[in-house]
This record gives sequence, C-alpha cells and structure tokens, in this order.
Amino acid sequence: MSDHVSIDRDRLGRDLYQLIVDLYPVCRSITGNGVRESLARIQKIVPLDVHEVPSGTAVFDWTVPREWNIRGATIKNSRGDTVLDFDDCNLHVVNYSAPVSRKMRLDELKSHLHTLPEHPDWIPYRTSYYHETWGFCMSHRQLEALPDDEYEIHIDSTLEDGHLTYGELYIRGESDDEVLISTHICHPSLCNDNLSGVAVATLLAEHVSSTPRRYSYRFVFVPATIGPITWLAQNEERARRIRHGLVLACVGDPGQPTYKRSRRGDAEIDRAVEHVLAHTAGGYTVEDFSPYGYDERQYCSPGFDLPVGCFMRTPHGRFPEYHTSADNLDFVTPESLADSFCKVASVLDVLERNRRYRNLNPRCEPQLGRRGLYDSVGGKQLTDDDRMALLWVLNQSDGGHDLLGIAERSGLPFERIWWAAEALLAEHLLEPAPQAR
Ligand code: ZN
Repeated sequence: MSDHVSIDRDRLGRDLYQLIVDLYPVCRSITGNGVRESLARIQKIVPLDVHEVPSGTAVFDWTVPREWNIRGATIKNSRGDTVLDFDDCNLHVVNYSAPVSRKMRLDELKSHLHTLPEHPDWIPYRTSYYHETWGFCMSHRQLEALPDDEYEIHIDSTLEDGHLTYGELYIRGESDDEVLISTHICHPSLCNDNLSGVAVATLLAEHVSSTPRRYSYRFVFVPATIGPITWLAQNEERARRIRHGLVLACVGDPGQPTYKRSRRGDAEIDRAVEHVLAHTAGGYTVEDFSPYGYDERQYCSPGFDLPVGCFMRTPHGRFPEYHTSADNLDFVTPESLADSFCKVASVLDVLERNRRYRNLNPRCEPQLGRRGLYDSVGGKQLTDDDRMALLWVLNQSDGGHDLLGIAERSGLPFERIWWAAEALLAEHLLEPAPQAR
C-alpha cells in the first residue's frame, strides 16, 4: 500500500463527510434496527457480514441485553400541544428508555428530564443500557420555558428478546496475520463520536480492499463495550492472529490527532503511529494506555493484551460538544476526516512494508560507488539523507532491527529508509530476515 500519497484529499473529505450526512438521522443504540439500518447503508460501499447474536447469550462476564427499538416519543401539555417530539431529534429520549405512557405534573416529570444548564441550547445525550428506566433530554432553555402543568408523556419503545447486531469485513491478504480496525456504531445523531469513526473505517476498508496487501484485515463495526466483548467471546482463537490494531473514535473534529498507545506501549502499531505523526504535517499528542476510553479497553484486557491502540483527534470528554446535540454536522469537517484517513492509511502502509533484513556484506562497509549507489540511483540524484539512509540500513540490518526501528534511530522518515532497503536489495546487498513474532 504505497499509493496513499496520490489520494485526492478534497474528494476524500467530501466522501467521508457525505457518509456522515447519510448516517446522521438514524437512531442507533447498542442493539436494534438503527444499527441494522446503518450497517445496510455501509454495505452499499463495502460487503460487510452482518452478525446477529441473540439476547441472553453469555459473553465472558456479560450477557447480550434485550433489543431496544423506538418508533416515537412525545411530551404534550394539558391542551394537547406537543412540547417535545422524538421526531425532531433522536437525542430527546434517553437511549434504551423503557416504554411509558402516563400523565404527570411538571415536578414529577422533572426527575426524568435531563438538560445542560451550562450549555442552555444544547440537548444532552444520555443512555441507560443496563438499568431499566425512561427519560427525556432537552435544552435547558426548553425546560425553563415549560409552565407548571399536567403533561402527557409517551415513549413508544420496545425492550424485548432479540439480537445484538454487528458488522464485520474480513479482507484476505498474503498472510493469516491480521490487522484489526474497530469502531463503535451505537450512538444516535452524533457526528464526531461516533459517525466519524464509522465513516473513516468504511472508506479505509474500501481502500484496503483495492490495494495489494501482505496482512489480512478485519474491520469490525460494533456497539461500544458489549460489542467488542461479544466479538472477542465468539472469536477467542481468531483474535490471536491480530498482530496490529486500531480503534477509531472522534476522528472528525478540527483538533489535532491524539494517539493512545496499546497496553503494551511499545508494540509495532504504537511505533508506526508515532512515526507517522512525527513525520506528517501538523501537531499531535501521544498518550499512554489507560483502562478507560473506547473499545481498546476490551482488546487490551490482560487475557487478550492485543496490540491495539486508539486513534482520535480530540479525545472524548475533552470537547464541550461531546455527547451533546452540538456534536453535529457543523462540528466535523471534511479536512479533518481526510487528514485522519490519510494518517491511518499511512500507518497501514508502514506496517505493510516494515521488515527485517540481513546485510549480505556485513564485514565492513560495501563499496557503494562501485555499485552505483553513491551519487545517483536509477537516474535519481542522491541527497545526503539518501546516502545516510543507505548507510543506516546497511549498518542496522543484522536481522534484529526492522526498517521502522532504523527510521526511528536515524531520525529519517520510514519512506526513505524503505527506499534505501529496496535499492540495497536490488544490488543483492540485503536479504529478507525471518520475520520475528
Ligand atoms: Zn460516546
């Protein structure tokens, strides 16, 4: 995968953004028809397999919950006027609310209303997956405008035995070793968290499918927490083939990229992401692993300890729009989406080409001039950096150091180190070393 540089970023940004626009109105949750509908839309782009796991299925310490679906919800005043309607915004209902139909005074209703006084025009996003309740979310201004009255509340939802639905795309490569890309798909009308991850993962899957590859790739679109737990419980053996992995979340806001390392901290994926961030434009932040955040928590639990990091822009909870109606189509930008895509594609590109080699002329330096490797190679005038790259690769290729490690130690970009290795291979000065596990 070396053609990422030729990607048309403007078009890519528009395509990513358009996919978010398309998925934005759907009311998703950790189960139910919103997830199915979202996966069906993604299937128009890549041939996802859709898996249905029955409610009640034991998955490690958890149980697949009942399926939640909602058709509508309203609050009406005593004159019968609708003062709040789920059809206007699917954040208006606490996600996973039990069905309810009754009348009550404002005082009693207030214990079921959620607002954000510090952002009086925004609607909060609230869930209650594992504790049965019901509730409404509205802007604080809307609440303050409600007079004391008797209100008729109605939530037309169902919580019944059904299924947990997730999407999976396996793209076979030369090797059985796998790269995992995982994103959550359970939030209703919220853009950065999590439609940005869904959009980037979808077009990345399309990109990977169309590119020659060494690794096999597995893209999973799962509800947060219970989704990866379910996937891992049902694929315990297969999970051991995962050599590198990334969770994608919050990748569309204008903030700079943030990478959260895997639990191992120094896995090849950690090194690859940090290298790409250091050698591409723009600032970035790297954070150590912590057992909080997105689905890396499950992939990095000690019984799996998979090399899976999390690629984000501004992390969850560190932008005020997080989990509110302000995480909308204005908050994510085509430029940020395209930048996230290109950086992750570059990481995959590094993983694909990162190898260990052995110097076939290890006793003192080979004579580069005699082999036409000193001034120009293949018509290309060599720069000082090119010559340094050749010397670094020759010096470090003892079978123990990979090209990424040589790039890190030399301070040169991976691209140049890889070029040097290819030139030395062509002159029979290197041979591939057995790949370490
Ligand atoms: Zn979230």
